[in-house]
Formats: sequence, structure tokens, C-alpha cells
Amino acid sequence: MNTMQLTVDNDVDKMEKYSQAVDLLNNGEVVAFPTETVYGLGAVATDDAAVKKIFAAKGRPSDNPLIVHIGNIEELALYIEEIPEVAKRCMDAFWPGPLTIVMKAKQNVLAPSVTAGLQTVGMRMPDHPVALELLRTLKKPLAAPSANRSGKPSPTKAAHVAEDLAGVIPCILDGGSTGIGLESTVLDVTLEQPVILRPGGVTKEMLEAVIGFVLEPNLEEQKIESTPKAPGMKYTHYAPNAPVYLIEQEPQIIAQAVLQLQQEGHRVALLAPTPFCDLKANFFFTFGDESNVEQMGAVLYDALRACDKTDATIILATSTELQGVGVAIMNRLEKAAGGKWYK
Ligand code: AMP
Ligand code: MG
Repeated sequence: MNTMQLTVDNDVDKMEKYSQAVDLLNNGEVVAFPTETVYGLGAVATDDAAVKKIFAAKGRPSDNPLIVHIGNIEELALYIEEIPEVAKRCMDAFWPGPLTIVMKAKQNVLAPSVTAGLQTVGMRMPDHPVALELLRTLKKPLAAPSANRSGKPSPTKAAHVAEDLAGVIPCILDGGSTGIGLESTVLDVTLEQPVILRPGGVTKEMLEAVIGFVLEPNLEEQKIESTPKAPGMKYTHYAPNAPVYLIEQEPQIIAQAVLQLQQEGHRVALLAPTPFCDLKANFFFTFGDESNVEQMGAVLYDALRACDKTDATIILATSTELQGVGVAIMNRLEKAAGGKWYK
């Protein structure tokens, strides 16, 4: 299959490009598009055959449900049985934005593959001009997970989508680099207490300022039988080819680790803030400024993907504080590392 890459930033033929994408979607095809979090791979959420193409293109397990994206808050009532008060307050505060809200789905409206057999569905209104323009021109909801092969780091540039899916999908809308660089926060409001199933750009602190106490189980707590889980939890995520190890943000510890690994015959890729660039690793990819977690979030997946273009045999990635967006970053890094720390 030939993959069209259509640039939609400040373009004279912009409307023609959107209508090409909309025609493909209306014909049951999938289209990759930018959002403020990562690039998504969309299909009309009421068209089961189209949604199945997302699972096929990504190699995604069929029991991992998709998030449904809408272009206007009013559309929500078409897909949700009853919108809880907590959800309304969250939408007022954070939509459009990087917050997915899991609610009880109306029966027989969305394609069955979207919800993977669950009674609930995750809904979001993205805060990106291209995503919103696409949704509002289409006038239909888009089921869209991240536009990467399952297990790989999510795409934050159109080129990342092409790396994974060129030849497999018909169209990529190129809107440049995504802003946040980490997937949306997933908040489940179907239980007695609202629960963060996946941390993201909208933090626990931000949510609690609006709706009061919110549960946020860490990866260890999520393994406990009684803790609510996102269905996607059990799968490998965000993983480059070489094994990833987390390491403390301490120059001496890192220098020592690099030396030791090289003596063992390893080629080491180091992912760390810019001041760590001269620690003699074989490859260095920056996380940006030392204490700027937003910047780290924005470049994290690009750095993880860059490792796959080297012949590094091991990847060291520095940890960050568990505060604000740092929680989401550590969640992704711990998954990329499979929980391994360099000792
Ligand atoms: P992605 O495929 O990267 O967009 O991730 C979507 C995430 O949202 C996965 O972790 C899913 O398990 C989670 N998710 C989607 N729908 C639901 C749902 N109805 N209930 C719980 N988690 C969901
Ligand atoms: Mg994903």
C-alpha cells in the first residue's frame, strides 16, 4: 500500500487535504493524525470493520480497548449512558485537553471492537487544531490509539508514524511535532472513587483541585488483584530494541556505570539531561534541561526511538522526580525498562 503523507500546517491546499482524509475515513480506512499528546491512528468509531484495521495495522491485542475522540462536548451524550457529575466538572476544566474519561457506554452505538467487550468507553476531546479540524469536518467520532506498532514508543512526529506504518496505512496527516509528547491521562469515573488508570499531562494534583480525592495506584499497586486496571496494562510498552535500565540522575553513578558496561563489551546509549552529555557513553540523547519535566516528556519517545537507529546494546535512562508530569514520565520509563534499574 502507498502511504500518502499530507502536510497540513499553514498550507494553501489545507481543506483539500482534510477532505482527502475524511473521504478515506468515510470509506472505512484508517488515517494517522497529530494530537497534542502523540500521533493517533484513527478510524470511524461506529464502523467495526474500519476499527479492526487499526488493530491489524498496529498488531494490537484485541482485548486492549481504544479511546474515542470527539470534536465537540455535545456529542458525548450520543455515546454515554449517563454523564456523571465528576466527569462534567473534569470536562469543563480540562477539555479540550489530554484527559481521557472512562464512562459507561451506551449499548450498540460504538463498534464492538472499540470497547473490546467492556461496558465502558474512554472518551477524549483533543486540544490540537489538526485533530479538531479533522473531527469537525468528519462529523463522526474517531477511535484512535497511538499510531505506532504495538509495544514501540508512541509517535511524536509524522516521521515516527512512517517508520512503523508506512506501506501499511493509506494516509498520515503531518502537523509537525506534538506538544506534550506523552499519552493522555486516563481517569475512570465509573467506580466509587475516581481512579487514574494511566498518568499523563493532566496530573493528580490538577484533578484533585477540581474533583477532590483521586486514587493513583503505582505500577506495583496495579499488580494487586483488587486494584482497578486499564486493560492495556499487561502488555509491553514503549520498548526500543536494546534493553533499557533506569539509573539515578547522579553524574558519578552514571560515569561508573558507563565505564563498567563498556568494559563488559557493551555499547551504551545514555538518555539524560543535557549537562550529562560528556559522560563518555557511546551514544547520547538529551532529555533537555535538568529540572524541566515538561521538556523531558516532549522528547522522551523521540530519544527512545533514536536508540533503535544506533547499534547500542544497552540503554541507560535517568529517572526523574515523582511530581507533576514526572509521574507520567516515570510510568512510561518503568514500562520501557520492564521495571529494571541499573545496579
Ligand atoms: P493507547 O492505545 O496508547 O491510546 O492507550 C489507550 C489506553 O486507554 C490503554 O491503556 C487502554 O487500556 C485504556 N483504555 C481505553 N479504553 C478503556 C476503558 N474502557 N476502560 C479502561 N481503560 C481503557
Ligand atoms: Mg499506545
